[in-house]
Amino acid sequence: MIDMQVQSDICVIGDGVIGKTAALGFAQAGLKVSLLAPASAPRAPAAADTWDARVYAVNHVAHALLSSLKVWDALDLSRVAPVDAMEVKGDGTDMPGALTFDAYGARVGALAWIVEDRNLNQALDAALKFASNVRIVQGRASALQTDVAAASVQLDNGDVLCAELLVGADGGQSWVRAQSRIDIDYRPYGQRAIVANFSCEKPHHGVAYQWFSAAEGVIALLPLPGQRVSLVWSAPDGLADTMLQESATQLAARVGIASSHQLGMLAPLQPEQVKSFPLSLIRAHALTATRVALVGDAAHVIHPLAGHGMNLGFADVAALIETVSARGPHRDCGDARVLARYARARKEDILLMQLTTDGLARLFGTELEPLRVMRNAGLNLVDRLPGLKRRLIGHALGKS
Ligand SMILES: Cc1cc2nc3c(=O)[nH]c(=O)nc-3n(C[C@H](O)[C@H](O)[C@H](O)COP(=O)(O)OP(=O)(O)OC[C@H]3O[C@@H](n4cnc5c(N)ncnc54)[C@H](O)[C@@H]3O)c2cc1C
Repeated sequence: MIDMQVQSDICVIGDGVIGKTAALGFAQAGLKVSLLAPASAPRAPAAADTWDARVYAVNHVAHALLSSLKVWDALDLSRVAPVDAMEVKGDGTDMPGALTFDAYGARVGALAWIVEDRNLNQALDAALKFASNVRIVQGRASALQTDVAAASVQLDNGDVLCAELLVGADGGQSWVRAQSRIDIDYRPYGQRAIVANFSCEKPHHGVAYQWFSAAEGVIALLPLPGQRVSLVWSAPDGLADTMLQESATQLAARVGIASSHQLGMLAPLQPEQVKSFPLSLIRAHALTATRVALVGDAAHVIHPLAGHGMNLGFADVAALIETVSARGPHRDCGDARVLARYARARKEDILLMQLTTDGLARLFGTELEPLRVMRNAGLNLVDRLPGLKRRLIGHALGKS
């Protein structure tokens, strides 16, 4: 028996940052939106002096989208750190490579911004609360039906959500993707990302540091406001296991050594806030199916070494809203030609980012000496070639 039927233009499945942004964007474009969110315990408000271990480097494309949706100004900007420069360092004591970028050279105010997950979600939740066209439905999807006319999702309580277009924003293990029979390539990296926040003895001056090493993985120290940094250490599984058994103080000491004490002594900000995430590559064979479009991690999961997974998701959302908005009066939101345009618009950007991050993860994951010498020489060479460096900066900004 059907308890309740919700009819909308767009139905978004998944209430992560990307799903919420999509729901808000479509609503602000004048469409009627339903957003399916799994029932979850309300988040306890965090104390003002605690820092979320989940942070994202948000690029210019994401910044522009969030600004146009009036979400950027709703962030607590005192907790957002601009990235003024990036320093990438290779491995080995003999001829280590190095590459630096800065906002001044790139003629932008900031290369990126470091934003906490909590800050982003709070701003999105507040905006969704005031959006008139969005209905948030709590529940779990149990069946999906699509045909040329519409998509409908049945929930386990019997309710049904019907829409012209179903947006799968339900993350790397996407239910929508599986139900739509979109195959994937999946490859685990044999690494886990360890994340934690530290105070640092020396000021970071807005520099995001990254060290590549075959034995230890990729270590990133991202600036947070004040003398604080956020660690993302993509470590081989064995090393990650060891690190997760250590105390946060031992981890701080380990990070200090691995970063050659670039920022002096490090101390854990919240010892209980060390988290870890298994890393894998997921490549969906298609971005769309009948009446379905995938966005965010549902469409692609990449290695976090470039800090671009969520940025790709924001670019998906911007492209999907633009394509649907430009569909013309005689087509509905889930029209096959509209979806084909979306898939074409995103194909190259996604492929390029998948190849770049996967290539770098593999190149810096090998301990073969000739490759070590080559990759470090490569970093030094890029650093001295202004044209190539400019293109790389453009790519990092999300502008290429
Ligand atoms: C260590 C690490 C560091 C990273 N750093 C960066 C960075 O600096 N910059 C960057 O751009 N990216 C970064 N990323 C990538 C980024 O975290 C992801 O790309 C992003 O979180 C994906 O967001 P999403 O909303 O698509 O998916 P998720 O965040 O996975 O959200 C999916 C949502 O869908 C819900 N859901 C799942 N199944 C269902 C269902 N059946 N029905 C309804 N809802 C469902 C889930 O509850 C969840 O809320 C990093 C990733 C890692 C692991």
